Amino acid sequence: MEFALPEELLAMQRTVRAFAQSEIAPVAAELDRDPRFPWPTLRRMGELGLFGLTTPEEHGGAGLGSLASAVTLEEVAAADASHATIMSVTSGLPQTLLVQAGSREQRERWLPRLASGSWIGAFCLSEAHAGSDAAALRTRARKVPGGFELDGSKAWITGGGEAHLYIVLASSDPAAGARGISAFVVELGQEGMSFGAPEAKLGQHAAVTTSVTFEGCFVGDDQRLGAEGQGFVMAMSSLDGARIGIAAQSVGIARAAFDAALAYADERQAFGVSVREFQGVSFPLADMATRLEAARLLTLRAAWLRDRGYRVTKEASMAKLYASETAAFVTDAALQVFGAYGYSRDYPLERYYRDARVTRIYEGTSEIQRVVIGRQLYRELERGSRGPVLADE
Ligand SMILES: Cc1cc2nc3c(=O)[nH]c(=O)nc-3n(C[C@H](O)[C@H](O)[C@H](O)COP(=O)(O)OP(=O)(O)OC[C@H]3O[C@@H](n4cnc5c(N)ncnc54)[C@H](O)[C@@H]3O)c2cc1C
Repeated sequence: MEFALPEELLAMQRTVRAFAQSEIAPVAAELDRDPRFPWPTLRRMGELGLFGLTTPEEHGGAGLGSLASAVTLEEVAAADASHATIMSVTSGLPQTLLVQAGSREQRERWLPRLASGSWIGAFCLSEAHAGSDAAALRTRARKVPGGFELDGSKAWITGGGEAHLYIVLASSDPAAGARGISAFVVELGQEGMSFGAPEAKLGQHAAVTTSVTFEGCFVGDDQRLGAEGQGFVMAMSSLDGARIGIAAQSVGIARAAFDAALAYADERQAFGVSVREFQGVSFPLADMATRLEAARLLTLRAAWLRDRGYRVTKEASMAKLYASETAAFVTDAALQVFGAYGYSRDYPLERYYRDARVTRIYEGTSEIQRVVIGRQLYRELERGSRGPVLADE
């Protein structure tokens, strides 16, 4: 059993940490106060190759795996959660689905742009009335000569109005339920697509979220991704990787809060001593550190197994569930160590606390992760064996 990261990943971790701390962290508070999509820093991330880590080299990516992705996402999230969300979306489902289901032309047309970060990607599944129950979506794809016409509205789309490419899930056969849902690639600026105003939300303000509406939006047959009716199945089977990404992001936010709390406990004086001397401070620090370590281990293990070809539905959900709940625990406990200053906008603790909250909601709520884990436990029971199996078994 080997717990150390390989040397090349450690080197990458050092590089991304130095970049994120020197270029992203300094702008995080300002972007939170005055929200806008952070193009200058996103372009720098693109130059570093952070948007195409898992995409094959032949399509402009680095051809690395989930482990590299998790390690770097933690670093970016420790500097700013919004940047990590945008990175997670662009390098996640849009590219995974293009690699898995795209034709040669589609891969050549879109992957190099996304992998290089010159284009940002978005994933449009949720609707106002359909989040956890995503298969209840109502956006329609009506067959017309040469392609389809999209009609309907997507909700809570990260990067709405800013991203250049949108993977849109729409039903071309409502009677077939989930099996009637297909995936389409829509480019920014296509006729019939419009965006709502940015949502006013609790945290992650720079990762702008909007509704995306389609009214008679024509997409050619060459914009359908994979076979008709396969979109939902493809999207669900790609969620494992995306959930590991949110787990890594959660670990990053929690780490930033913990590091700040540890340093503050050392310097803050009360009753003539540093507050670190009080068990009321050192015990929460011990709990934070322990949970943080456990969350990171679950995350890296899920990524490591996935890179070795295992099906990690349960492990990815466990990592996402535990890491996101750990981020909530750690950011709350760290804020407490700061006392009143934790509550102040002059310090980053309240931002970490707000930014962490959504990790328990998107890419499947904590409740949905428990549903997934429970279902997998019963599958294992029926199979008569525990633990992950190879994806092709
Ligand atoms: C900031 C942000 C960014 C987002 N970005 C995107 C994006 O880019 N693309 C996209 O497609 N979506 C995005 N989403 C949407 C997100 O994926 C959904 O919000 C999420 O899936 C939950 O759906 P919902 O909000 O409709 O909650 P609901 O599904 O309405 O759930 C309401 C409550 O019921 C619980 N619940 C529902 N079903 C069950 C069940 N079977 N068992 C137990 N409890 C259950 C939920 O856990 C929750 O507590 C984003 C959301 C946010 C907040």
